[in-house]
Amino acid sequence: MTWRADILTIFPGMFPGPLGESLAGKALAEQTWSLKVTDIRDFGLGRHRSVDDTPFGGGAGMVMRPDVLDAAIASVADERPLIVLTPRGKPLTQARVRTLAEGPGAILLCGRFEGIDQRVIEARQAEEISIGDYVLSGGELPALVLMDAVIRLLPGVMGHAESGVEESFSAPLLEYPHYTRPAVWADRAVPDVLTSGNHAAIAAWRQDAALRATQTRRPDLYTQYIASPARAP
Ligand code: SAH
Repeated sequence: MTWRADILTIFPGMFPGPLGESLAGKALAEQTWSLKVTDIRDFGLGRHRSVDDTPFGGGAGMVMRPDVLDAAIASVADERPLIVLTPRGKPLTQARVRTLAEGPGAILLCGRFEGIDQRVIEARQAEEISIGDYVLSGGELPALVLMDAVIRLLPGVMGHAESGVEESFSAPLLEYPHYTRPAVWADRAVPDVLTSGNHAAIAAWRQDAALRATQTRRPDLYTQYIASPARAP
């Protein structure tokens, strides 16, 4: 079954962009996922195909019009979740990425300018998602980020089925650090245990390294982990 992505944007040339390369590009060619890009300007008003107007209440910048966006949404809407990328949204999590990957696809609306008229978001019951606490100039990169996170989880996309399960944010801890050859590089040796061949010792070292990284880098996740009844002993 093909995971179907629809993008609504005023910059259709940004897609598939980086998702045309590597694993995602191969999966696109193999129809593991599909991409349809709709230019919001096709629904723009007047001779200039205008999609925005000045904000009620005043202030800088322009706001995307609800009537124009609603017509663009209507041209693709179906049972798939409609997602608006916005810094006002709920932060994207690996858990949400996973449920999206298990579904039929998504319709992603990319904002520009100061943002989108709130009424169309409410009328369409769109889900507002942010990719982090910083402001980008448009929703196109956030849409690509979200799709990349989903696509790598689709069946057959990643080489090793388990590589999706072990890494950061699936497990409640950050991942342990990685090392490869050469065993000594620039006077730095890899931790001895990793070359010992002792798999139990390696697993214990990795668990401990993951714990320490989480404690120092993400005290918020560490606190959650320590409090969770399901945690490994
Ligand atoms: N005035 C807005 C920022 C608008 S940025 C504010 O202060 O909240 C323009 C567009 O970029 C937004 O409509 C949104 O689609 C996109 N965007 C910017 N940062 C984002 C983020 N962190 N996550 C998701 N979308 C983002």
